[in-house]
Amino acid sequence: MDIGIGRVALVTGGARGIGRAVAMKLAAPDTAIVFTHVNPSSPGAAETLALLKDRTGAAEAQCWAAEDSVAAQRHIEDIVSRYGRLDVLVNNAGLTRDNLSVRLSDEDWRAVLEANLFGAFACSRPAAKVMMKQRRGRIINLSSVVAFSGNPGQANYCASKAGLVGLTKSMALELASRGVTVNAVAPGFIATDMTSKLDEKLRESFVGRIPAGRFGSPEDVAEVVAFLAGDGAAYVTGQTIHVNGGLYL
Ligand code: NAD
Repeated sequence: MDIGIGRVALVTGGARGIGRAVAMKLAAPDTAIVFTHVNPSSPGAAETLALLKDRTGAAEAQCWAAEDSVAAQRHIEDIVSRYGRLDVLVNNAGLTRDNLSVRLSDEDWRAVLEANLFGAFACSRPAAKVMMKQRRGRIINLSSVVAFSGNPGQANYCASKAGLVGLTKSMALELASRGVTVNAVAPGFIATDMTSKLDEKLRESFVGRIPAGRFGSPEDVAEVVAFLAGDGAAYVTGQTIHVNGGLYL
């Protein structure tokens, strides 16, 4: 029985970690999930695709960088031409290039700002045009606890994640009257490849600072993203929801 596609979601950086958990959480028989990745040789995208195909109406993996604004526009237009709509955009793609500010290169500053902040804008701009016409849509940006607390060695990353909060608020104000919400989720320490680089001692010291006594899971974050993506969050916009086990209040 063909029950048709009632909802279409695009998740950037969905091959692993939080992006994969979000894609899996949004998956449903009447939903099409498109996710992006940037590493065609890594097995993550194929694994995510196989997992999604078991539980969602349609699943696609696309290889393009979030900050490639030409690709973002072309692919979003293509999604809309094939599925007829785009309901949810999750700007999850992100990377770190850590160093103390006095040693941080122009290249590492720009790479992180480009991917994390400009990437979210480059995807949100064409998505917002579609969603405004539909008079319905959800944009969710992955910020971070360090946007609020700061973090030594992560000036570029913290600036990009704090920038996302401003982007979120501004676009929320621009789009609210059209039925489109724009929110951010700010995870604390989440157990993914991004945090697996931490050595054991540092990890233990971080856990000691988290009132919940553990790192979060990608699924902890995906639950909140799914709430913001759903009908029940229609009156929530311009907000940042913290998912950090009490690390930063
Ligand atoms: P991860 O490194 O495990 O996954 C990030 C994904 O984004 C990867 O699949 C990567 O290939 C992809 N990606 C990187 N640059 C990209 C680009 N330019 N275009 C498209 N895709 C790109 O990271 P994660 O821990 O799953 O983090 C997901 C998001 O959540 C990121 O934005 C990250 O900054 C944010 N976040 C993570 C944590 C944490 O503790 N893990 C905490 C706060 C915020």
